[in-house]
Amino acid sequence: MRPVQVLRSAIRTVPNFPKPGIQFKDITPILSDIDLLKLAVEQLALPFKEKRITKVIGVESRGFIMAPMIALELGASFIPVRKEGKLPRQTRSVSYDLEYGSATVEMHIDSVCSNDRILIHDDVLATGGTAAAVEELIERSGGKIIGLSFLIELSELNGRAKLKHKDKACSVVMV
Ligand code: AMP
Repeated sequence: MRPVQVLRSAIRTVPNFPKPGIQFKDITPILSDIDLLKLAVEQLALPFKEKRITKVIGVESRGFIMAPMIALELGASFIPVRKEGKLPRQTRSVSYDLEYGSATVEMHIDSVCSNDRILIHDDVLATGGTAAAVEELIERSGGKIIGLSFLIELSELNGRAKLKHKDKACSVVMV
C-alpha cells in the first residue's frame, strides 16, 4: 500500500463526536504505532524539505502533537499558536467567526520575525476558519508563509477556499 493509503486506513471516523452531526477524525491509532507515526511525520514534512523553513507553527491543540516533530525533520524550531488567554507573555491575536460565536488565536509577539520562513501545521483542515486566522496572525507578525501542512483535509467542507495561501497548502490524506 502507498503511504497515503496506509495512513488513511488507520484514521478512525467517530460519528457524532463531540456533538451530533460531527464526523470526528481520530488520529490516535497513528500516534500509537511507531511506524505510522514516523510515516505521518515524514509525509507532512516531505513537500517542505528544500524550502528552508525556519519555524513550524503548531495550532492548539492537536496541531501541537506533530508540529515539533515536523520541525525537527525540517531543521526548524516550533512555535505554539494557542487559544485565548493561555500564553503568559505579550501576545498578538486574531479573532474569527465560528458557526455559533467566535474564537481567538494568539501567539507571543516576539516569536516570529520578518526573515522567518513559516510552515503552519494542524491535524485537520475542516472549514478553514482556524488556519485562515493563523495565516493572518503570521502575516501581521511579518513572517513569510511558505506552506501549510495538514494530516487530514475534509474536502467536502472546502476549507481550502478560505485560505489566503491555498496554493501552498498540502494535505497528506484527503477525505
Ligand atoms: P476549522 O477551523 O473548521 O478548519 O477546524 C479546524 C480545527 O478543528 C482543527 O484544529 C481540528 O483539530 C478541529 N476539527 C474540526 N473538524 C474536525 C473533525 N471532523 N475531526 C477532528 N478534528 C476536527
